[in-house]
Amino acid sequence: MKRKLILLLAITCSCFSIFAQGSKELTISNPILTNKNAKNVILLIGDGMSIAQIATTDAFLGASENTYDKHLNFENFKNQGLTTTYAQDRLITDSAAAGTALATGSKTYCGGISVDINKNNLKTILEYAQDLNKSTGIVTSTRVTHATPAVFLANNIDRDAENEIAVDEAYSNVTFLAGGGYRNFISPNNSYNLKSKRTDDRDLIVEMEKMGYISFIGENDTTKFLNYNPKKDDKIVGLFAASHLDYAIDKANQPTLSQMTSKAIETLSQDNDGFFLMVEGGRIDHACHANDAVSAIEDTLAFEEAVQVAIDFYNENPNDTLIIVTGDHETGGLTLGFAATAYESAYNQLQNQKISYERYGIDYFNKYKKSHDLSNCSVNDLIGDLDYYFGLNNLSQDEIISLDDALKRSIAGEIIKGSQINDYLLYGGYEPFIMEITHILNKRAGVAFTSYSHTAVPVGTFALGVSSEKVNGMFDNTDIFNIIYDAMFANN
Ligand SMILES: [Zn+2]
Repeated sequence: MKRKLILLLAITCSCFSIFAQGSKELTISNPILTNKNAKNVILLIGDGMSIAQIATTDAFLGASENTYDKHLNFENFKNQGLTTTYAQDRLITDSAAAGTALATGSKTYCGGISVDINKNNLKTILEYAQDLNKSTGIVTSTRVTHATPAVFLANNIDRDAENEIAVDEAYSNVTFLAGGGYRNFISPNNSYNLKSKRTDDRDLIVEMEKMGYISFIGENDTTKFLNYNPKKDDKIVGLFAASHLDYAIDKANQPTLSQMTSKAIETLSQDNDGFFLMVEGGRIDHACHANDAVSAIEDTLAFEEAVQVAIDFYNENPNDTLIIVTGDHETGGLTLGFAATAYESAYNQLQNQKISYERYGIDYFNKYKKSHDLSNCSVNDLIGDLDYYFGLNNLSQDEIISLDDALKRSIAGEIIKGSQINDYLLYGGYEPFIMEITHILNKRAGVAFTSYSHTAVPVGTFALGVSSEKVNGMFDNTDIFNIIYDAMFANN
């Protein structure tokens, strides 16, 4: 409704500018007064990325160059604002409600995938782009059925109905879809011999191929995907992991976020009508849930690389391209500083971590756990790991005591899901020993997390190109939809 009103006002004011200047509504909807339209729109969303995630990454980079004046590329965009993220039913949103706000301009309840509070389907910005005959693309480092990508391509009352969401996505007519999550697409009896989570025997990749898609499934297809030269009118689906893609720090044999973004732009930019592309750095959120600062930083840097690909495209097409960079919410209650380190910071302490908390668990700690019990486990066995994988050496007596306690809890399989509040506060439901490692690193660096969940801290929004001047001041996440909608439809 609001959208139609704004559009109407725009038409009114461009035709009757004297009348329009006297109207109060016009002052509010002033952003519409542009003559240019954005033929190409690239929306980049850092999941869980607020100002603290960005500033921590800046400080991390600055530590190696001995400067406090280091910034990510998008921090230099001239047009910036602060964005509120609340859901319809909760101050602290989830990615489904936050994504729905960005994709449809409507607030909804947590868990809703582009449906309103009454569970009616909402039309998404990607569908509006399709109305304009634009090509469309979704790129993410999570499962493509995860909330943020899903809100652009699917409607569902429940974010967890990922098999249903996959069907919507397969039939969304999206031009380019890349990320993780083939398990919700391929049938249990698939020819790739890969893991499926489907409960029917449909194979959505086979169905998509019948609709003309070129598919790349599993890590084994990574090279083929990277070497593929997209042609005009190609439709591409690339799913490189059963679930989420690996953390950037773990450098798997999967395309990076920037490589996928680059391939997407190569494909979509061949459309003379232009394109809409959403790119999600989806695992900043997961690393922050687990309070793993370094993995969050490395995924933020991978996200920045993807933004650079968008900037490079903009530089060749500055007159008809809009880039918006934002976060969907903050995760972890991350901040730069905490009580024990007071005014001190030591980000160089973070620079020797080589793998994520997740990879350390899967590849190393789980094996130790299986081969030890309470009678023979010892922190001494793992001191080499702590040094090599996390750069943690010269452990203090206090650090050894807390690691020893956490190790015993891990080995005993004790309360990992945190039935007792104190355990939850200590480890958030994650593996106690690995959490203790990252906690020690954070404490040494002077980084702190206050939560294992999201927070309601506003996020930063950064914009470049056509209509980017509308990204200014403080506004709500639903306004980002309106800015993109207006930019695409100006003069249409
Ligand atoms: Zn989250």
